Amino acid sequence: MLKPYPADLHIHTCLSPCADEEMNPANILNMAKLMGTKIIGICDHNSAKNVSSVQEAAKHYDITVIPGMEVESAEEAHLLVFFEDLKTMMKWQDYVYGHLPLRKNNPKLFGKQQIVDKDSNVTGEEDLMLISAISATAGEISQKVFDMGGMLVPAHIDRKSYSLLGQLGFIPEGLKINALEISRNISEKEARSKFGISDDYCLIISSDAHRLREMVFQKTFLYIKEPNFFEIKKAFEALEGRRVVIKD
Ligand SMILES: [Zn+2]
Ligand SMILES: [Zn+2]
Repeated sequence: MLKPYPADLHIHTCLSPCADEEMNPANILNMAKLMGTKIIGICDHNSAKNVSSVQEAAKHYDITVIPGMEVESAEEAHLLVFFEDLKTMMKWQDYVYGHLPLRKNNPKLFGKQQIVDKDSNVTGEEDLMLISAISATAGEISQKVFDMGGMLVPAHIDRKSYSLLGQLGFIPEGLKINALEISRNISEKEARSKFGISDDYCLIISSDAHRLREMVFQKTFLYIKEPNFFEIKKAFEALEGRRVVIKD
């Protein structure tokens, strides 16, 4: 039996310098619980160092945490990347860290990059500046993600900056993607007509929350059997009745 799972697949933690320090596992999970959100994706900029803590903390909630990351390609396009498990995500993180410029973060200028444990204690800070384009193109990123069995979803494509459409003006032919994300500022209908997106592409809306109050923008429902990576993939591909419904 398929059930509609309210999902928000793009949430930042306090590891992202631009996110509020309140974005720790306990607060994120309590807010998701309050909103009735059953599936969340943790997608920090170019790092997944807080994913395990949110996953661990989620064991006490009826909420599934999908390991994710918001990667910035060489073209300065933000791309969401998801993997089935933490192990593969950490391998992916090695790839991203290997392609990040060796620049140190300046917390005073850009914000702290806090690493937290499952109990939301701050255990350290990431030194490398995470808000940077990595030296891999969207095409290279998508190929690598697919080779590793992951999913790729270009982020907030309706935004003028840091989006695939904003940077390139088009979706490169042959680019392997599973779905496209639009921001909470536009409806599915508007986005499809404004950007000429055919029904072949699955659209999702995520909150891209950098602070707790932004998690109220939960609009995507995944009609799936169970809340897991493979079911979500099927929903993106509209396989076996699985589907994505956006509540405008
Ligand atoms: Zn972004
Ligand atoms: Zn984001």
